[in-house]
Amino acid sequence: MDVKDSIQFLKGVGETRAKQLAKLGLFTVEDLLRFYPRGYIDYNHPYPVAMAPYEGMCVVKATVYGKQLPMRIRGGRTIYRVTAGDDTAGLLLTFFNSPYAARGLEENRDYLFYGRVGGALARREMVSPTYVPADGSLPMTPVYHLTEGVNSKYIAKLVGTALTGCGAITDPLPEVLRQKYRLPDLRRTLEMIHTPKNEDEVTAARRRLVFEELYYLQLGMKLMRSINLRANRAVMANTDLTAFYNALPFTPTGAQQRAITEIASDLCGKTPMNRLLQGDVGSGKTLVAAAAMVIAAQNGFQSVLMAPTEILAQQHANTLQGMLRPLGIEVALLTGSVRAKPRRVLLEAISTGAAQVVVGTHAVLSDDVIFHRLGFAVTDEQHRFGVRQRGLLAAKAESPHLLVMSATPIPRTLSLLLFGELDVSILDELPPGRTPIKTYAVTTALRGRMFGFLEKQIEAGRQVFIVCPLIDESDGDSPAAHEMQAVTTYFEEVAKQFLPHRRIGLMHGRLRPTEKAQVMQQFASGELDVICSTTVIEVGVDVPNASVMVIENAERYGLSALHQLRGRVGRGAAESFCILVSDHDSEEVHSRLALMCHTNDGFAVAQYDLEHRGPGDFFGERQHGLPRLKVADAMQDARVLETAAAEAATLLSEDPKLIAPKNAPLRHEVEKLFELGGGLAIN
Ligand code: ADP
Ligand code: MG
Repeated sequence: MDVKDSIQFLKGVGETRAKQLAKLGLFTVEDLLRFYPRGYIDYNHPYPVAMAPYEGMCVVKATVYGKQLPMRIRGGRTIYRVTAGDDTAGLLLTFFNSPYAARGLEENRDYLFYGRVGGALARREMVSPTYVPADGSLPMTPVYHLTEGVNSKYIAKLVGTALTGCGAITDPLPEVLRQKYRLPDLRRTLEMIHTPKNEDEVTAARRRLVFEELYYLQLGMKLMRSINLRANRAVMANTDLTAFYNALPFTPTGAQQRAITEIASDLCGKTPMNRLLQGDVGSGKTLVAAAAMVIAAQNGFQSVLMAPTEILAQQHANTLQGMLRPLGIEVALLTGSVRAKPRRVLLEAISTGAAQVVVGTHAVLSDDVIFHRLGFAVTDEQHRFGVRQRGLLAAKAESPHLLVMSATPIPRTLSLLLFGELDVSILDELPPGRTPIKTYAVTTALRGRMFGFLEKQIEAGRQVFIVCPLIDESDGDSPAAHEMQAVTTYFEEVAKQFLPHRRIGLMHGRLRPTEKAQVMQQFASGELDVICSTTVIEVGVDVPNASVMVIENAERYGLSALHQLRGRVGRGAAESFCILVSDHDSEEVHSRLALMCHTNDGFAVAQYDLEHRGPGDFFGERQHGLPRLKVADAMQDARVLETAAAEAATLLSEDPKLIAPKNAPLRHEVEKLFELGGGLAIN
C-alpha cells in the first residue's frame, strides 16, 4: 500500500464510509495519516468527582453504585440512568437510547468516565460519557474531529490499519534537518501523534510537525517572492522632489520626510525594495507613497496602488490626483465597476504607459491589465490581501519595488510570516494641528442623551458616522446576532425617532459598488449629516468634516478594529469624539473599552489586542490569506518560525526553484499546504 492510494483501499472503508470520510477532507491514505487528533483522553490522570473542572471535558474516576430502571421519554426515546461516585461526591450518569452503554457497566466496579461534567456540587452529572474499566494501564486515546457516522474509535482503527499497511513512508523533511534539530522521522511522528504512550511522545511529535509545517510555509512564501527577485530590477536614479513638495498644501512631517528618504534610497538601490510603511491612522502614509510615485514617474516607470475596497481606491485616486496632477502625472482608477468601453480605454492607457499611476482594487490583477513599464507597486492595508494576490501584483512586472502600507503595527514574527524579510519605515508623528479624539463608553440607556449630543454636533455643521455590525436581522442565526443592532433597522429607527430632520445615508457591504461610492460621495460633499454603516467604512475613508464616530455593539470588535474605525474622525481641526456603545457587562469588555477611552495610541491598542486576544483577532479571521496552519501557531512557535525561515532560505539558495528531483517530496508538501492544485506558479 502507498500513502497516495485512495482511502477506499483500506479494509473497513466501503462506499458509504468513503463519503463520510470525504466530508472530513480525507480522500487518500496520506490525508488520513495527516489527520491529527484534536486532543487525547488521558485516562492516566483522572480527577476525583468533586474536583473535575465544571462544564469542561475531562476524565473522572468513580465507582458504579447502581442502575435505575429505564425510562421512556418524549419522542419515543429511552433514558438509562446509572448512579456512581467516589469519596468526594456523587455522579449521575445518563445515557440516551443506548442500552449497551448502560448494560456494560458493572456495580461496585471502578471506571474512568470521559465527558462533560455538570450538575450540582454534591451530585455531579455526566451525559453519555465514554468509559473504560479503571484496572490495568491505559494508553492515551486520540480524539478526532468528527462527522456524522464516524467516531474517534473508527478513525483510530483506520489509522492503525494504514500505518501497518504502508510499511516505509517517504519523509519529505530532509534527513540533515531531522538530525540537526533532533526531530523524529515521519513514520515515528505519525505513530506518536496518533497513538502516543505518554505526553512526552505527543510533545516530540508535535515539535516535528510544527517545524515541518513552518518550514513548508516558509519555502512556499519564499518561492512566491522569488518571482519579484528576478534579474532586471527597475533602475531609478533621478529623484528631485522639489516641485512635488512645492505643490503640497502643507509641509511633510519629519517622519514622512524620513520615510521618503528611505524609500528613495531603496528605489535607487541594487535590489528591489520590499518595505513596510507603518503608521497610525491619519499619519499621512498616502503622501509618502505619492512621493515614491513621483520618483518612479521621473524615471519613466509606472506605479500601481492596490486598495482593499472600491471606496478606498476611489479616495486614493482623488488624493493622488490632487498631489500628482500639478506635476503633470496622470492617475487612472481601475475597479470592478469600470466596464466595457471605459475599461478598454483605461487598459489601453495602461499598456501604452499614458497612465503613469494606476489606482485600483484587486481588479488591477486581471490578466488583461498589462503595464507598459511597471516599476513600483504599493498595497494599502496589506494584511487584507492574500499571499497569492501579492505575488500576482508583483508578477505584473519584471521585479517592481514593493511597498506595503499598514496602520496596524505588525509584530516581527507575523511580518516574517506574511511578507518574508522586509524593511520597515515608521511614521511615528501625526501631522500638526490635530486635536486628539475624545472617546467615551456608554450603555444603550444613554441613547437619548447621545442623540441629543449628535444633534448639537450636526447643528454646528459637523457630520456623524454610526457603525453597526450586521446588515439585517436575518443575517445571523445565533441568539447573540439577534441582540445586535442591525444597520437597516437601526437606520429606520434613527431616521424616524431620534434625528427626524436630518439627512441620513445607509451603507453596507450588500450595496453595489456604484451605490456605495454614491453614498460616500454624498457624505463627503456634505449632502448627508449622518452615515449609518457596517464596517465597510473601516479602512481609510477620509471626511475631514466628520467629527463623531458612534460604534454600536462595541464589544464585538477587537481594539485594533475600534481604533481603525475611530481613525475615521479627527482628521480635521474640529474637536472629535468617539462613542462606544455597549451593554456588555463583563470585566473584560469594561477594561478593553476603558483602554480605548484612555489612549489614542494605535500601538498600545494593538499590543493589548495581541496580549489578550492573540494574533487571530489581530488580523481578523483569515484576512491575511495565509494557508491554514494545522499544528503551528505563529506567536507561540515564533522561535521555530525563525529557524524554519533560515533553513528554507538555505535550501533555496541551493535549489532556488525547488525542482531538484531529491526535493520533489518537499515541493509536493509545499503545494499541498498552499492548496495549489496547479502547482506553484514558478518557472
Ligand atoms: P493614513 O496614514 O491614515 O493613510 P492619510 O494619508 O489618509 O493617512 O492622511 C490623513 C490626512 O492627513 C489627509 O487628509 C492628508 O491630507 C493629511 N496630511 C497628510 N500629511 C500631512 C501633513 N504633513 N500635514 C498636514 N496634513 C497632512
Ligand atoms: Mg490610508
